[in-house]
Amino acid sequence: MAYREKKCRICEQQIHEVDCKDVNLLQGFISFQGKIINRKRTGNCAKHQRAATQAIKRARFLALLPYIGDQ
Ligand SMILES: [Zn+2]
Repeated sequence: MAYREKKCRICEQQIHEVDCKDVNLLQGFISFQGKIINRKRTGNCAKHQRAATQAIKRARFLALLPYIGDQ
């Protein structure tokens, strides 16, 4: 196998709940244009990708992350 799968970053850091105020973490899951990066590229597990997506949406609502892209 040429492509090595990355470990889920949230599992690795043993974060139990993804905080929408943890902008540093969430920024790792959005692209330069502010789009949410899909699971294949983030390497997140399904559970945490969903948690990250929810947190990003909440963070956008709180204006912690940009809205551009993604629509
Ligand atoms: Zn995980």
